[in-house]
Amino acid sequence: MTSLLTNLSIAEARDGLRTGDFSSVELTRAHLDAIEGAADANAFITVTPEIALERAAASDERRSEGGTASSMDGIPIAVKDLFCTEGVLTTAASHILDGFVPTYESIVSAKLRDAGAVMVGKTNLDEFAMGSSNITSYYGPVRNPWGPKDGKDLVPGGSSGGSAAAVAGRLSLAAIGTDTGGSIRQPASFCGIVGMKPTYGRCSRWGIVAFASSLDQAGPMTRTVRDAAIMLGAMAGHDPKDSTSAPVEVPDFEAALTGDIRGLRVGIPSEYRIDGMAGEIDTLWQKGIQWLEAAGAETVEVSLPHTRYALATYYIVAPAEASSNLARYDGVRFGLRVAGETLDEMYRNTRGEGFGAEVRRRVLIGTYVLSAGYYDAYYLKAQKVRALIARDFHRAFETVDVILTPTAPSDAFAIGEKMDDPITMYLNDVFTVPTNLAGLPGISVPAGLSARGLPLGLQLIGRPFDEETVFRAAGALEEAAGFDARPDSGAGGR
Ligand code: GLN
Repeated sequence: MTSLLTNLSIAEARDGLRTGDFSSVELTRAHLDAIEGAADANAFITVTPEIALERAAASDERRSEGGTASSMDGIPIAVKDLFCTEGVLTTAASHILDGFVPTYESIVSAKLRDAGAVMVGKTNLDEFAMGSSNITSYYGPVRNPWGPKDGKDLVPGGSSGGSAAAVAGRLSLAAIGTDTGGSIRQPASFCGIVGMKPTYGRCSRWGIVAFASSLDQAGPMTRTVRDAAIMLGAMAGHDPKDSTSAPVEVPDFEAALTGDIRGLRVGIPSEYRIDGMAGEIDTLWQKGIQWLEAAGAETVEVSLPHTRYALATYYIVAPAEASSNLARYDGVRFGLRVAGETLDEMYRNTRGEGFGAEVRRRVLIGTYVLSAGYYDAYYLKAQKVRALIARDFHRAFETVDVILTPTAPSDAFAIGEKMDDPITMYLNDVFTVPTNLAGLPGISVPAGLSARGLPLGLQLIGRPFDEETVFRAAGALEEAAGFDARPDSGAGGR
């Protein structure tokens, strides 16, 4: 029974809860047990069993009184430890936030909580969401449940690696992540799950530890496209406390999953055929094209000519914003303080010890590109190129409805690989960062296995605030791909 409960989708669990096949407490217990059994996956920084069982019991009670309508009511979810959670340690996987217990709840996690979702814990991530491997976490790396391979443990991707490993390893039905340059989609691809980054402004950023404010978005990580649609519906919406959140209606995303993509125009950007991309990634992409065509879509070559500048642009804009956002960690207001003789020395000691190497690298790059004399050459130039990248997409969307690309240039790599060369690590984001720079919605759908037997995702990108079309196309892609492989070691069975 327990293992059956951890295999459900949100949609199936919703039905089971409605018909009374099991209670939320039973469902929650099954997941808490699975988390305990998979402690060495290191997917969680904090597990919250008391909160989970209390919320589950409250959900069951609501249901017995006939007072529930939400699809998320009673559903166990994991929360990336970048979302502030009231009364629960929030670390951003950084030493500098030691002991930080927020007195408030992020809007996205509050919306899910209010919809009845049951938080089972806070998941591990790259420090301050900077990375593609989860290796930069102060709390140690996460093991991808698809590993080990050839005797080596694999990364789950990042930065939302703990969330992806939890969902793939059957430790929670779903999880929330954040995506600044690919942090939902790339780990989803590495772990064989669905990850959706909504349009910038779709979800409130209030209460999420900020990395790069003009790029950060929260989104769902689930095992099916339908679940992502259900979950996003509960997360999205205008929030007056976040001036960049958009005052637009939240449609019924689940209703968009009609399965019918006849006549849909799908763009294939030639510039995404990059040098050095593994042949099997290209093969899968071609399969994706054929699947969508077979389902009645029309594919069209499109050009996104500024794609090749996207990574360079991202790695100026994101560190610039990060250096500004991270200025608040000064040893006075949050978490860690390392004493010094003078105030300046205390700042230096705290930041020197509190931030890991990757975070310090980003702060250095960020302050450099923002400094007088370099601002015009780097930051301002990057902003101009960013506008060109966005324009490319807007032009393409004059003729197509969605764009299909690979999610990542490879399958999951071994823990410890690519560590000495940040540039190789940054290449992981080559297919995902343009979407963030342009503010567009993107989803990764598990579509096949690599020669090594590891999951690979395909990405669909849509027009701003047209998540419905993205979900509709993603549903068709999921159906055609028929991906049903599972990590056999499963985090639960390691
Ligand atoms: N891997 C990218 C980076 O290191 C993206 C991170 C993210 O989306 N949070 O910045």
